[in-house]
Amino acid sequence: MKKYFDRLYSDSYQEFEKILKKNLEKNQKMFVVTANPETFMIGANDQEVSQILLDAEVTIVPDGIGIVKGANMLGYKVKERIPGIEIAWSLLKEGNKQQKTIYLLGASEEVKEKTVEKIKTDYPNLKILGAVNGYGKDKDKDFEEIKKTNPDIVLVALGIPAQEKLIYKHLNDFEKGIFVGVGGSLDVISGTKKRAPKIFQKLGLEWLYRLAKEPKRIKRFYNSNVKFIFKVKKMKKSK
Ligand code: UDP
Repeated sequence: MKKYFDRLYSDSYQEFEKILKKNLEKNQKMFVVTANPETFMIGANDQEVSQILLDAEVTIVPDGIGIVKGANMLGYKVKERIPGIEIAWSLLKEGNKQQKTIYLLGASEEVKEKTVEKIKTDYPNLKILGAVNGYGKDKDKDFEEIKKTNPDIVLVALGIPAQEKLIYKHLNDFEKGIFVGVGGSLDVISGTKKRAPKIFQKLGLEWLYRLAKEPKRIKRFYNSNVKFIFKVKKMKKSK
């Protein structure tokens, strides 16, 4: 897992936003993986995900507080969280400013539609080239459609690791585009789900809020986050 930490983006959100803006301006292709402990744990057991995390063309940012803390424990100077939801908001804002184009893939039909409405209202200069929900049978075919439209921004909301695997599989066919697997972000952007209150975010407890709201996540949380902490502690000891 150390090799994933080695590749982790370590600067502030402000600096990261500048990179997003610049790449959007220059049509520089980019694939952002927003990592939480689960991402790294999956990587340790899944060859395909591991390959994605180790690919020099892939940017890994610390989405979860667990990744930031884990990195710090291991001596990496990772400044702060770079949450996927913030990246999504930045891309909408900047895409609107630069009059770029976007394609959405993922989430339920209702969430996808509400997100489209939100973008049309609040980001009218960001042109939506297509939007398809995440429950279609043939996602490769969905991606073929995306390819035909050559968008500047592609947000894929299928959850980890499905979204990352899908993007990675097709990435080489694109010449430009900022690709991000945004997990549950469209649920929030559409107004369907609420993000944790600011105080939770500030205290690094957004995960706790999510667990309290969606207790079915507890098993997943244990399997990834708790085991992750033990793994990091073990790595620290053996350093
Ligand atoms: N989703 C989807 N198709 C699927 C499974 C999930 O489009 O087959 C969507 C789901 O509706 C939600 C997002 O993927 O909008 C995953 O959200 P979650 O909060 O679980 O993501 P994560 O915790 O991985 O960030």
